[in-house]
Amino acid sequence: MIRDINMEEISDGKRYRSADMVKIGCAECKGCSECCRLTDDTIILDPYDIYELCRGLNTTFDSLLNNSMIELGIADGLMLPHLKVDTDGHGCTFLSPEGRCTIHSFRPGFCRLYPLGRIYENGSFSYFLQINECPYPNKTKVKIKKWLGIENLSEYEAYIMKWHKIHAKAREEAALIHDHRELSGYLAAFLRRYFQIPYDLTRPFHEQFTQR
Ligand code: SF4
Ligand code: SF4
Repeated sequence: MIRDINMEEISDGKRYRSADMVKIGCAECKGCSECCRLTDDTIILDPYDIYELCRGLNTTFDSLLNNSMIELGIADGLMLPHLKVDTDGHGCTFLSPEGRCTIHSFRPGFCRLYPLGRIYENGSFSYFLQINECPYPNKTKVKIKKWLGIENLSEYEAYIMKWHKIHAKAREEAALIHDHRELSGYLAAFLRRYFQIPYDLTRPFHEQFTQR
C-alpha cells in the first residue's frame, strides 16, 4: 500500500540496500505472532504473491477468493487482493492456532519485508527500518537479503520496480475515469490481466509477468 510517511517519525532515517545489515533479527519470532494478528486489510498482494500462493497451495486465484483465503478491496484507487483477516483477533487466515505461519516458505512479500518498508525515490527503491513496529527486544543484525529469503533477489527487485511503475500508471489512469461503469470495467480488466488469468505454475513467474 502506498503511504504518505514522515521518514523521521517512523524510521531511523537511513536507507538500506539488500546487502546491508539491519537490526531486525527476532529469534524467528518464537512465542510471538503480533504482526500476524492484524485487524485490518493491510497486506496487499502483488502478482508474484499470488503466483507463489497458487503454486504453494496448488490452487488458482479464483479458488483463493472463493475459499476466503484472500479478499478484494480498493487500495490506492485500484481493485487489489489482500490477505483475509479474521476480525475476532485471530488475525491472518494463514496463522495457525499455535501462532505460526502455515505458508512460511511462500508467504507474501509484505510478510517477508516486515518490519522493513520500501521507499521509492528517483526511479528506484531502498529499504528502510520501521522503528515503531516489531516490539521484540534486543534485535540482532541480519543482512536484508537473508531476511527476505527470496531466490534471485535482483530479478525480484527489478520486478518490484516494474510493478510499482505499472501500479502508479494504472492509478493515474483510473483517477481520470469519472464514469462509474467505465471505472468498474477498468479496475476489473486490471485485476484480470495481472492476477486472475492463471499463471502457468510450471514456468518461471517473471517472464510471464513481463509478457502481461
Ligand atoms: S512482531 Fe516481530 S517478533 Fe512478533 S511475529 Fe512479528 S516480526 Fe516476529
Ligand atoms: S501469511 Fe504468514 S507471515 Fe503473513 S500475516 Fe499471515 S501468518 Fe503472518
